[in-house]
Amino acid sequence: MTVRPVERPRRTFGTQIYLLEVWRGLAITFRHLFVNLGRHALRALGVKTAAPGAVTIQYPEDPAVLGRRARTRHRLLKRGDGAPRCTACLLCETICPAKCIRITAEDAPDPRIEKRAKTFDIDLGLCVFCGYCVEACPVDAIRMDAQDVELSAYTRRDMIWNMPELLGDVPKLPRV
Ligand code: SF4
Ligand code: SF4
Repeated sequence: MTVRPVERPRRTFGTQIYLLEVWRGLAITFRHLFVNLGRHALRALGVKTAAPGAVTIQYPEDPAVLGRRARTRHRLLKRGDGAPRCTACLLCETICPAKCIRITAEDAPDPRIEKRAKTFDIDLGLCVFCGYCVEACPVDAIRMDAQDVELSAYTRRDMIWNMPELLGDVPKLPRV
């Protein structure tokens, strides 16, 4: 392996005193301000061909509208009879790069299914939202389309979602 040293760029007197950089930063800020102001003004005057100006979303009072295909929190799906679709094949747990899925399996009462998940936990504090678990599932039992992105919690333990919560059977409440 060859190591190529990267030389630090020389700092000139102009860079050292930062004044020029401050003025450059201000110039960029004001350029955006006036370009957006102009675009909004043209739109307000009815010029439909003007490019739309940037808008500030007033989150959290005004939550952003997510795209239909946005990758959000996981949810587990059910079959027609209301039972979870998951057959505890462990493919999602195996492929997960963050190792944040924990499944325990048990015999399913239906002999055509063989196994089902007894417990199914996802630690969203570790998840990197790559979507591999969804891709790996052979029975479409897990999706990342709950449209839920507000996943913060006060403890690490509360970042773990269990099976009833992922199925939507119970609301996610802090553990006591
Ligand atoms: S989205 Fe990626 S990191 Fe998160 S649970 Fe699925 S496979 Fe694991
Ligand atoms: S890949 Fe699908 S069926 Fe297999 S354990 Fe995961 S969610 Fe269940």
